[in-house]
Amino acid sequence: MKTLVWVEHDGGSVKDATLATVTAASKLGEVHLIVAGHGVDGVAQAAAKIAGVGKVHVADDAAYANALAENVAPLIAQLMGHHDAFLAPSTTTGKNIAPRVAALIDVMQISDILSVEGPDSFTRPIYAGNAIATVKTSDKKLVLTVRTTAFEKAAAEGGSGAVEAVAATGDAAKSRFVGAEKAESARPELTSAKIIVSGGRALGSEEQFHALIDPLADKLGAAVGASRAAVDAGYAPNDYQVGQTGKIVAPEVYVAVGISGAIQHLAGMKDSKVIVAINKDEDAPIFQVADIGLVGDLFTVVPELTEKV
Ligand SMILES: Cc1cc2nc3c(=O)[nH]c(=O)nc-3n(C[C@H](O)[C@H](O)[C@H](O)COP(=O)(O)OP(=O)(O)OC[C@H]3O[C@@H](n4cnc5c(N)ncnc54)[C@H](O)[C@@H]3O)c2cc1C
Repeated sequence: MKTLVWVEHDGGSVKDATLATVTAASKLGEVHLIVAGHGVDGVAQAAAKIAGVGKVHVADDAAYANALAENVAPLIAQLMGHHDAFLAPSTTTGKNIAPRVAALIDVMQISDILSVEGPDSFTRPIYAGNAIATVKTSDKKLVLTVRTTAFEKAAAEGGSGAVEAVAATGDAAKSRFVGAEKAESARPELTSAKIIVSGGRALGSEEQFHALIDPLADKLGAAVGASRAAVDAGYAPNDYQVGQTGKIVAPEVYVAVGISGAIQHLAGMKDSKVIVAINKDEDAPIFQVADIGLVGDLFTVVPELTEKV
């Protein structure tokens, strides 16, 4: 089977989510990549070095500069003429592109796969991860999004894929890039961080969130996350949200501060290797998944912990 993997990049380097997606694709067959963007020579060269990659298709055109799904999907649909499976990471961009590809080539998308059971069957979470379904498709071509925390990352070095330019399909003129407001941070990216410190509604305000969570995260070299309640209350930006409707993370250590452990939050972090929970309520559901639990008032405990780290 010939697979095509969407390369998620920032214009300069390949994002880690791509590496896990390559591993998923390698379980199906030959791995080809698609790098779409503008001025993406460096990305294509880096992508070609990923272990196990056979070919890197490069579509370098202004129409792909901001990975607008409306422009990228027709390009991928065209490449699916000679590929059997398209795989994208379950990231915001991947989830924007893949369903459009599925619609264009008239197949069903299988979302958020956790494992490859065979050439046409996969496991995926349902009910916010409380049950795992095995799904089998009779479609001739596959469109899959991949839960990247469920697959090991392919080695970023060691491959020698052939880089091949592909013709651009142009601007679909259905959408226009207006601008991007990016939260600049020196901290690691949430989905690839080894340690995450997340804050919940209990922080009480944006000021307190940053005053307590940021110093602990900085001492630990951690990324900062948040519950949806904290995001909805404006304590933390939207892209900090961990959970069913936020980011899915599985760091080495996840520190949940003042987070109750609602099922939708657990759906995004319960695969973390070590979970540390700080909560004043000893019956909080977060303690059911925590490896280390600290019952106490976060306003006392967190500054003390930060000082001692
Ligand atoms: C469709 C849907 C999707 C959702 N998606 C997500 C999602 O992606 N991510 C997500 O997080 N939620 C999500 N939610 C919301 C989720 O159900 C919860 O409402 C949310 O996670 C609660 O956030 P919280 O734990 O910060 O707040 P709360 O539930 O209010 O918990 C606050 C916790 O802090 C503790 N606390 C209070 N004061 C202190 C103190 N001084 N010291 C120590 N501990 C203290 C309390 O004991 C409590 O356990 C979703 C809900 C729905 C319906």
